[in-house]
Amino acid sequence: MTIQRFFPPRRILMGPGPSDISSDVLQALSRPTVGHLDPLFIGMMDEVKTLLKYAFQTENDFTIPVSAPGSAGMEACFVNLIEPGDKVMICRNGVFGERMRENAIRSGAEVVLVDDEWGKPVSVDKVAAAFAENSDVKILAFVHAETSTGALSDAQALSKIAKQYDALTIVDAVTSLGGVPLKVDEWQLDAVYSGSQKCLSCVPGLSPVTFSPKAIAKIQARTTPVQSWFLDQSLVLGYWSGEGKRSYHHTAPVNSLYALHEALLGLYNEGLENAWQRHADMHQKLKQGLEELGFKYVVDEECRLPQLNSVYLPEGVDDAKTRQHLLEEYNLEVGGGLGALAGKVWRIGLMGYSAKNENVALCLKALQETIGK
Ligand SMILES: *Cc1c(COP(=O)(O)O)cnc(C)c1O
Repeated sequence: MTIQRFFPPRRILMGPGPSDISSDVLQALSRPTVGHLDPLFIGMMDEVKTLLKYAFQTENDFTIPVSAPGSAGMEACFVNLIEPGDKVMICRNGVFGERMRENAIRSGAEVVLVDDEWGKPVSVDKVAAAFAENSDVKILAFVHAETSTGALSDAQALSKIAKQYDALTIVDAVTSLGGVPLKVDEWQLDAVYSGSQKCLSCVPGLSPVTFSPKAIAKIQARTTPVQSWFLDQSLVLGYWSGEGKRSYHHTAPVNSLYALHEALLGLYNEGLENAWQRHADMHQKLKQGLEELGFKYVVDEECRLPQLNSVYLPEGVDDAKTRQHLLEEYNLEVGGGLGALAGKVWRIGLMGYSAKNENVALCLKALQETIGK
């Protein structure tokens, strides 16, 4: 057998996630593993919940990381909130909106679809019109930051319409959390999920979620059990809360949670507003350099994500070959396009720890040397 130990190179991650991880977070990951019911570990879990509430800007008691990637957080929201036959409005303006539709259908929902062009935000007017025709919709679901296109939607305005019809909201905040303003309580969002590996710059594989008291009430009023045992949040709650009497549900990813604690503490110490500003500032610097090199943005300026720069390739630049060159020669990863945008656009991420001057400078220098004339 000639298999050897695996030592990955140190890449600079400027794609759609995962993002760069700081040495503080990587070191936290390698601390000694303790039992998942160890009293010291349970104390740390409580701090993770407190820090997550800060990141989400919520007082929701039910704010925990699901032990699985963002897709599991998405699924947890859909399978817990939807009962078969519920009418659910899904906004689809990219890849992740389509995944929401698939989740809703598998949960037995009757889906009302509101489609928008890729690269555009969810149309608030279309959602209002769809509610006027379907006032019995129980849940509105939309993606706050569409990573497949780089478009930011107006979560506050969308939530406001849902409230007028007494509908709950399911919000995908995988890419928005920590990168752009997200205010769960102020905007009255009900079930919100995120991911550890985007603007939180933690290891992949955890999905922070938060449920409002109204979302919890809908779950408690269910007449059918949640179809997924693992994602049934009423069962998970016995492990993540309950004074002094935590019970085994599944073995928590202990070391990954050390890393999340460290990453969230970093965000807390920096301050959310400062983190949002840093993403905005780095985006401005990158944008200037990209436009000088001939890249054009896919998304209109007023709804562009600073942490996900979706740009059309300049004439004559080969997508796959150029990205391979950047990876091999500069250890730099940028993302390709998805779906209809494959081969035509790049998605350059400035997420979390990756949103810093040295990354912007390296990316622009590498592009200058590779495709500049
Ligand atoms: C990355 C992402 C997901 C999925 O997260 P995974 O951790 O890859 O499962 C869902 N929604 C959006 C908007 C994302 O960017």
